[in-house]
Amino acid sequence: YEAKQSRNDVCIYRSEMEMAYLRRLSVEQRLRYGLASGSLYMVYQPQVDQTGKAVGLEALVRWQDEELGFVSPAEFVEVAEKSGLMVPLGRFVLETSIREYSLFRNEVGGFVDLSINISVIQFRQPDFVETVLEVLAMHRVSPGELVLEITESLFMSDFERVLKTIERLREKGIRISMDDFGTGYSSLSLLRKLPLDELKIDKSFVDTILEDEKAANMIRSIIAIARSHNMELVAEGVEEEAQASAPVEMGCRRFQGYYFSRPETLDRLKANPALAIGH
Ligand code: C2E
Ligand code: MG
Ligand code: MG
Ligand code: MG
Repeated sequence: YEAKQSRNDVCIYRSEMEMAYLRRLSVEQRLRYGLASGSLYMVYQPQVDQTGKAVGLEALVRWQDEELGFVSPAEFVEVAEKSGLMVPLGRFVLETSIREYSLFRNEVGGFVDLSINISVIQFRQPDFVETVLEVLAMHRVSPGELVLEITESLFMSDFERVLKTIERLREKGIRISMDDFGTGYSSLSLLRKLPLDELKIDKSFVDTILEDEKAANMIRSIIAIARSHNMELVAEGVEEEAQASAPVEMGCRRFQGYYFSRPETLDRLKANPALAIGH
């Protein structure tokens, strides 16, 4: 009986693996097509200051496919990274968000920061810095308006080279933000070695800040390090008022989350008076 049961387990396991494999293949195939046919677009989530005014926008990619429907970026970004599609996808994100941001800030007449997520593969392209500068120049956006969000996984190998790229970007005035901070490995020791402009405290810490003393302490020590290194701090994934007030008490001044606004098209954000965009 046992043997029979374990055989069944193997079968279930296999078919799940097969399903995941087939899903990956179709996401890859449809994404290749989607990149060429224009079914990807950008939305933007505001970062707000303590008064609720928008001081930044994070560009987030979206994909609505004819056959697959809505596919989350968490899924298709990973597929893109494994299938050679990350460079064209990253290029699309860079060009589209910088172009749309440029039109938007000319229209509203106010500056905010534009944050763009950069995948490891994209960041490691030899011409990455040149590409970013080129796209900025093309749309008359100054490097000082741009923030690039990277993750700790970038430092898993070839630390020195990554560091050089960061230094070149910062020399041009582009700011570097560490996304999902606290979820990766060796976070605190890494921080001391890196020239960063901003830390984004991961949603998982923000979520538990009210109940969990350990999470609160973790955030306190992150804030202390950020302060001593002159870094901007952003609390991510704020869903209720109390989750913003706790980090405020600890010294965090920037917030992002559904409580303030979901990611939206720029036209919809413009129409939200609470964000006071352009004022
Ligand atoms: P991320 O960069 O950490 O982005 C924040 C994610 O949290 C976004 O999910 C956002 O919609 C979500 N979020 C913001 N506030 C809240 C909240 O209050 N509650 C909850 N439950 N969620 C909130 P999204 O857009 O699904 O993106 C997921 C991840 O996919 C991103 O995490 C980023 O790692 C990646 N990604 C998204 N767009 C891009 C892109 O253009 N390029 C690259 N390379 N990666 C991207
Ligand atoms: Mg991000
Ligand atoms: Mg994040
Ligand atoms: Mg994330």
